[in-house]
Amino acid sequence: MRRLRNVKIVATLGPASNDYDTIRALFEAGADVFRLNMSHGDHSEIRARHEMIRKIEAEKRRPIAILADLQGPKLRVGVFANGEEELVEGQTFRLDLDEAEGDSTRVRLPHPEIFAALEAGSRLLVNDGKIRLKVIECSREHAECEVVVGGTISNRKGVNVPDVVLPLAALSEKDRKDLEFVCELGVDWLALSFVQRPDDVWEARDLANGRAAILSKIEKPAAVNAFDEILSVSDGIMVARGDLGVELPVQNVPPIQKRLIRKCRAAAKPVIVATQMLESMIDSPMPTRAEVSDVAAAIYEGTDAVMLSAESAAGSYPIEAVTTMDNVAREVESDPTFREVMDASRGGRKDTVADAIVSAAREIAETTNIKAICCFSQSGTTALLVARERPHVPIIAMTHLTSTARRLCLSWGMHCVITGELERFKMAVVNAARAARREGFAGERDQIVVTAGVPFNMPGTTNILRVAPCEERLIFNTDPE
Ligand code: PGA
Ligand code: MN
Repeated sequence: MRRLRNVKIVATLGPASNDYDTIRALFEAGADVFRLNMSHGDHSEIRARHEMIRKIEAEKRRPIAILADLQGPKLRVGVFANGEEELVEGQTFRLDLDEAEGDSTRVRLPHPEIFAALEAGSRLLVNDGKIRLKVIECSREHAECEVVVGGTISNRKGVNVPDVVLPLAALSEKDRKDLEFVCELGVDWLALSFVQRPDDVWEARDLANGRAAILSKIEKPAAVNAFDEILSVSDGIMVARGDLGVELPVQNVPPIQKRLIRKCRAAAKPVIVATQMLESMIDSPMPTRAEVSDVAAAIYEGTDAVMLSAESAAGSYPIEAVTTMDNVAREVESDPTFREVMDASRGGRKDTVADAIVSAAREIAETTNIKAICCFSQSGTTALLVARERPHVPIIAMTHLTSTARRLCLSWGMHCVITGELERFKMAVVNAARAARREGFAGERDQIVVTAGVPFNMPGTTNILRVAPCEERLIFNTDPE
């Protein structure tokens, strides 16, 4: 089974996609990666979803990536005596550490570290930025604010503080428990919410200790400012447009999205564009024209993956949402303009043998009638370099490591095949040709390009490029040892 597009689809699971048949239908419709949102659902629910995905993976004999999204230091106000209050523009409103229930003049904000970091003039955004507060004066126990934009504030609404780098640990107590739980369960990617600095990434990396790849969600101005450093210590990136659009003016989000996608491609690391891509499909079987255009734009920009949140987790049309993304992707990728844009934006540092080999592999594949680039990769690094090339022909990533195959499911164009451990290059070519034929990429009379590093089992040794026939008899007769 192969996909007829290169960009990947990430589908968040939730109450609307909690059973085996729905998850399988999401996979069949095109979901390549399933996101488990640790902000919702208890461990038993997460475990059940994980088990179902792995069962579908075995049934379909295709690797599937699981991404566990940690909640991160999300700030929330306490509760109100009346459940909610109406804040009016111009009034003052106080946030403090007092455990008493809130009223129209004050509410608890149970984060002493925040009060220590606030200054007069700092902005506080409540409930997705719908309510805006400005600090007039503050101490270590309270902040007296002016209501700049009013609205209804209710129990446990989220608070964003865009102006300061918060002295918060990247991982809360809950995050640490969740991290250990999902690493034990066996997930492929860990997404970190509200990353502010490279050290936040290191912290998670140390705890995960190689059990999962680390994806940094860019949703704070501080993360945008420190992006290059954060990218260099992360395995992947999410443009988390939801919180990013609260913390920054919304019009800043599209240029940031474009810049981040370009940098991730140059670094050969996967990037996901997330949030509100098909928002109206939560309640409607048809997307708006603007949403279709948004998904298409992200694909034209060269993103590795597009993501569904509430559309697949809590909406009425999860399957239709995946199908819509699949249809949009196939249309965009068959547009000659898409090819031109991908070719014109090829870049990044290229100063290694592996870079030269994958670049040559693409050129050979594109100037002759080659059906696929098959690359043997243990860590996945060579496969990622091939993806950065955005070749016109499919990429078949061959690896004997299930964990590598699963992680690569997030990357552009990657069709992962798990092989046995190899000792001789000839067997690699035989395996590649068989995989290309079996999975519908090539016929007996076709040719493929094979790249590998010999000796095998030594990471970082990509040193062979071969144009190989797909016909079994020919490989055995013509291939060198
Ligand atoms: P969230 O992250 O859905 O976990 O908030 C994505 C975003 O903020 O866009
Ligand atoms: Mn977010």
